[in-house]
Amino acid sequence: MRANKDLPKRYHLNRPDLAQAVAAELRTCQDVKSQQRLLAARRAAAFGLVFRTSPSNLAPTMRVPFLLLVGLLVSSVRAAEVPPATNEVPWSVNATNAEGATVARITVDTSEVPDLAAWGRHAGALCAEWYPKITALLASEGFTPPHSVTLRFRRDMRGVAATGGNRISIAADYVRDHTNDWGMVIHELTHVVQSYPEPEPGCAKPGWLVEGIADYIRLAHFEPQARRPRINPDRASYRDAYKTTAGFLEWAEKTHDRHLVQQLNQPLREGKFKLELFKEYTGKTVDELWQEFADSLRAKTQPAGA
Ligand SMILES: [Zn+2]
Repeated sequence: MRANKDLPKRYHLNRPDLAQAVAAELRTCQDVKSQQRLLAARRAAAFGLVFRTSPSNLAPTMRVPFLLLVGLLVSSVRAAEVPPATNEVPWSVNATNAEGATVARITVDTSEVPDLAAWGRHAGALCAEWYPKITALLASEGFTPPHSVTLRFRRDMRGVAATGGNRISIAADYVRDHTNDWGMVIHELTHVVQSYPEPEPGCAKPGWLVEGIADYIRLAHFEPQARRPRINPDRASYRDAYKTTAGFLEWAEKTHDRHLVQQLNQPLREGKFKLELFKEYTGKTVDELWQEFADSLRAKTQPAGA
């Protein structure tokens, strides 16, 4: 997974202008951890050679090659130590709509973790490409999403990522261990677009649905060819959030109403969501829909004719 060509095509940037802006750095953003290991190995080799071997113990003909080898190793360590190009930190890029008008400014701040500068820029460029798409997928009357989004990479953060308002915080250690997880960025960006307020009295903003919609955007639209998580029909529930709810929503759109998520999004954004709306939109309660979904999963896992 060193080279970007190993990434499935769906992860590639689709905006030539942005792709150009980050292309030179893509080489360095795939496997930060392995780069660090390589650097450590080179460093150990260089120091090991210098401290274990004294040139005076070597045959005279070996001294020059030995010194050359040490020089080569030391310079390769120094070259690898040069941080990735960080012309600007924070780095910004505009998200534009189909007409070319700027809809938001995306800012990437990797000042705490310079080794993730290239990864961060690619993530920022992906956000610039996907912000208008997610806004269209989750469009609702009279709504305009925030005009700026900040991605901040945090050195000491645990877990994966968190989003509050238009600010996305991403844990550096998570990125170093999951250098291909661009979908995580799309999930967090969806939270910015959601902008769901606190619900009005008598209404709800179920956390499982908010997270489910974020993963639905990721799975159904950003990673449509990705392998779907296995859902156990006997144990799972639509309330499980994330990929389970995402899979459920994706199925419900295919089988009942292809605009279901957009329909659910509107009342969530107005603080007027109620669970009963599932019945209004699909003719079935959410529990009835889940039963049907679970039955379809069981049918898939049973041998034909059983
Ligand atoms: Zn989330």
